[in-house]
Amino acid sequence: MTKYIFITGGVVSSLGKGIIAASLGRLLRARGFSVINQKFDPYINVDPGTMSPFQHGEVFVTDDGAETDLDLGHYERFTDTSLGKLNNVTSGSVYSHVIKKERRGDYLGATVQVIPHITNEIKSRINGASKQFKPDFQLIEIGGTVGDIESLPFVEAIRQFKAEAGIGNAISVHCTLLPYLPTSGELKTKPSQHSVNVLRSYGIQPEILVCRTTKPIPKTEKEKLALFCSVPKEAVIECRDMKSIYEVPLALETQNMAKVVLDMLRVPDRKADLKDWEKLVERIKNPKKVVRVAIAGKYTKLSDAYISVVESLKHAGYANDASIDIKWINSEECIDDKKCKELLKDVHAVVVPGGFGIRGIEGKLNVIKYARENNVPFLGLCLGMQCAVIEYARNVVGLKGANSSEFDEHAAYPVIDLMLEQKNVNAYGGTMRLGAYECILKKGSKAAKAYGKEKISERHRHRYEVNNEYLKQISDAGLVFSGMSPDGMLAEVIELPKLDWFVASQFHPEFKSRPEKPHPLFKGLIDAAIKKL
Ligand code: GLN
Repeated sequence: MTKYIFITGGVVSSLGKGIIAASLGRLLRARGFSVINQKFDPYINVDPGTMSPFQHGEVFVTDDGAETDLDLGHYERFTDTSLGKLNNVTSGSVYSHVIKKERRGDYLGATVQVIPHITNEIKSRINGASKQFKPDFQLIEIGGTVGDIESLPFVEAIRQFKAEAGIGNAISVHCTLLPYLPTSGELKTKPSQHSVNVLRSYGIQPEILVCRTTKPIPKTEKEKLALFCSVPKEAVIECRDMKSIYEVPLALETQNMAKVVLDMLRVPDRKADLKDWEKLVERIKNPKKVVRVAIAGKYTKLSDAYISVVESLKHAGYANDASIDIKWINSEECIDDKKCKELLKDVHAVVVPGGFGIRGIEGKLNVIKYARENNVPFLGLCLGMQCAVIEYARNVVGLKGANSSEFDEHAAYPVIDLMLEQKNVNAYGGTMRLGAYECILKKGSKAAKAYGKEKISERHRHRYEVNNEYLKQISDAGLVFSGMSPDGMLAEVIELPKLDWFVASQFHPEFKSRPEKPHPLFKGLIDAAIKKL
């Protein structure tokens, strides 16, 4: 029978609840339990796929093609699981489903209300995921802050769920912040007490408190929190700011958080195998070298917009005892040749990530040209691959005016064009080529060597593709199409074999990298950069 752990937050947003939920997941996995994480997002969008990365950060794509919250990336990376559509629930998806049922007449004349219809739908999403994955533990994080109007139906659904699950089958973990007042030299517990009171006013008494803090929490303050918030002392867990997010599971383990959780859920504790994770953290904390990697994109002001790319680079660094120093480059600034050279002259590797729309494209083309001409290790992701093909077509093949029809409908040479199945698609949400598709790599190619196999499966999120009318002309000029869809119709990977590492993919490898298992394409990039240090 699945046991449930609900994770809420209070005092402020951006507490890192996602990392805490993922870390607890890791600790349970390390004990041999099966775990899944689920994220409930209170916004009205059906999924984050239509939101600007500036608003919401990265859109994380799952194997089954769901466009989800970036916390799913943390969950997958920490617990080394593969999640899907059922793991991210939004108010929008819940309401649209209920309204569809109402229009169909499924409610047989009833007045459709938040309680019970919306809350029942939320509970059925919890049960749906349990049914599919049959995990020992299901960790469910509620986005936002307790007290927000938007999250109320979710909080009410948890209250009901906990009561129905019965004692020892579901607990809730509340995450808060302890502000530090430098004038009095104190950590303040009052906001946490208030936040727990808000949660109680909705009928939920948390079993565990996780307190974010910049300083160690003195014993007296822990006792105060335990007393006022009615939780056992050992259930007040400190979560201090750390250099690396991957240290968090170990910090929670030293406070026996998983054991406290297991006791409360009446499951006998098991020995945790965290040896590899400890080794990983050792490597993270003691890098022997630094690799400076430029990420040239348009959402560079918000690093969350590229969070899986950044994590994948770090993973490849860990495998090499290297730390990654990211140089954020706004691709618009690279439209000027001189500025572009200036910005790139001190970097060891270049990544051009995915994106949409014309802004900054000419700058990205300049960045790629620089990497190609100066043999700087380069990795292009989705839009980054499309730009690499455009750059090669223009500057090597000689197709002046080559472009993607995304940026110029009347391009002289539309070397990147809308996919056939996209031609009649008008709606924006969930309509791209999404999720896992197979790809066959060319024997002996850099990509095949990096993967160590020729048949791979990777996640996609795009509408445009390489226009096959130009495939021959471009490959005759030296660009190798080293990965194709199994039917040979879609270009998936390109490379320039003569350069140290010039590889780009139509898919998004960044969604499948793990801290202990760096993705082959990112590892290839960082290996090549390190060889040249
Ligand atoms: N805009 C491009 C497309 O739709 C690339 C998408 C991406 O980078 N995810 O094909």
